[in-house]
Amino acid sequence: MGYTSEMDSQAPCVEPGGFLKTPVIRGKNPKENGPEMSYADLIETTGRVNDFLNAGSILSWDARTMMPRSGAESRSKQLATLAVAARNLLCSDEMKRALEGAEAEVAGKPQDSPEARIVAQVREAIDYHERIPTELLRRKTELGAAAHEVWAEAREKADFSIFAPALTTMVEISREMAQALGYEDHPYDALMYRFEPGMTVAKLNPLFERLREGMLPLVRGIAETEKPRSDFLFRDYPVDRQMAFALKMAKRIGYDTARGRLDTTVHPFEISFTRDDVRITTRVSRNYMPMSLFGALHEAGHAMYEQNVDPVYTRTPLATDLISLYAVGGVSFGAHESQSRLWENHVGRSRAFWSNHFGDIQAAYPGLLDDVSEEEFYRAINRSEPSFIRVEADELTYDFHIMLRAELEAKMVDGSLEVADLPAAWNAAMKEYLGLDVPDDAQGVLQDVHWSSGQIGTFCNYTIGNIMAAQLFDTATSENPGIQTALDGADYAPLRDWLTDKVCQHGRRYTRDELLTNATGRTLDPEPYIAHLTRKYSDIYALA
Ligand code: ZN
Repeated sequence: MGYTSEMDSQAPCVEPGGFLKTPVIRGKNPKENGPEMSYADLIETTGRVNDFLNAGSILSWDARTMMPRSGAESRSKQLATLAVAARNLLCSDEMKRALEGAEAEVAGKPQDSPEARIVAQVREAIDYHERIPTELLRRKTELGAAAHEVWAEAREKADFSIFAPALTTMVEISREMAQALGYEDHPYDALMYRFEPGMTVAKLNPLFERLREGMLPLVRGIAETEKPRSDFLFRDYPVDRQMAFALKMAKRIGYDTARGRLDTTVHPFEISFTRDDVRITTRVSRNYMPMSLFGALHEAGHAMYEQNVDPVYTRTPLATDLISLYAVGGVSFGAHESQSRLWENHVGRSRAFWSNHFGDIQAAYPGLLDDVSEEEFYRAINRSEPSFIRVEADELTYDFHIMLRAELEAKMVDGSLEVADLPAAWNAAMKEYLGLDVPDDAQGVLQDVHWSSGQIGTFCNYTIGNIMAAQLFDTATSENPGIQTALDGADYAPLRDWLTDKVCQHGRRYTRDELLTNATGRTLDPEPYIAHLTRKYSDIYALA
């Protein structure tokens, strides 16, 4: 069975919910469990899942930007209700009937057509969620709520032993989750699947090996050299001027504020409620100016991914992550991170960017940067120094924080590392990679919120994003010299157009590896990233 002729002659419809509409023929051959359903029903029903998830996202945005703290308890219940409603609708009989009808209807379509992909993704998502027992999900959610406070207390007191029992239970739950989901090689593979489908320990290990081999000599070389001057970054920069400049530069690279807005939060983030409303936040420190600017460029990179997804995918599974249950168009967490890192690091921290915009930043902060040269500024925002806290780490040392976490998580999940031994293993890895002696658990093993809520398997996304960003940027500029020429002249449109063409517009239609192969001719390749870091830091620090 294929599409009806009406379908073939119809141009795709662009209004929300109208994606590839087919005439609905009901009741021709009613089954006992309900009327026959079609691809159009599948699109409408998955559209309602997307609505639930977007409603959750707006509650979440509000909770993180505007909500008084007193609203937290009822808000978490509201969010849980919406998440459960989305999952239940996804796994409902109605959805399954629509899916059966749709599967028959698209059977003749090419395997990578949007229709075939939608049908396959809905089938896969239902299978995924049905493998997780409701009782296990309930235990995970309940523990997550309780463990957050235990973790906060442990971090406050810098005492891992307070958090250890909750983490032990969370690791057991994660192991059960991996068993329920199934895996071929390593239980951690099943956990990573939710965030980075297709990533496995077997693929991650050699990538990490190669990164360490390429990056450790740079870290060690830099430790022996003189630090660039950076005093001027810590002057008193008025908050309102910082926000104005951050917004100006986010718009300058292509963030569409007619379909977005910028607010301040403690932890910067991007969130979308369809491509037509994509919001970002940044954090501001009065005495450390780069935080607000690079936070905004980073989140604008995420936002431009969502804003440039093909409008016909709006409200469909190609703009809805039905596995992790987020209403996003990005194909994996790592792919999303590639766009933020590309704009933040390859564009925003480049020499070309500051040869064009150093005058702008001097003008934005009258008197504050008058005694600084463009070169000093460029070096200061790119200086590298090992530090304890992941979210404050620089471009070069950041991945060591990630590798350490991903490796320890995998070992906890497969049982080769006991939770009780985690702080010692953490501190040993910090010493080995970054040469640091961790002073206490708050600045070590307790710094991240993730484990308390059961988010195990997500850290690798950041490093995958870094690798992918360099690979995409390298291909874009080497195959299209006009893109670099444009960047040299502060024209960001050609790069943005290339990324839209190769990555953003496709939403979730292709896998991460398909996207990368189509764009660069190969899957994840760490070499362009290592080459980028080597070039940049050898230059700044005059390394041999
Ligand atoms: Zn990010």
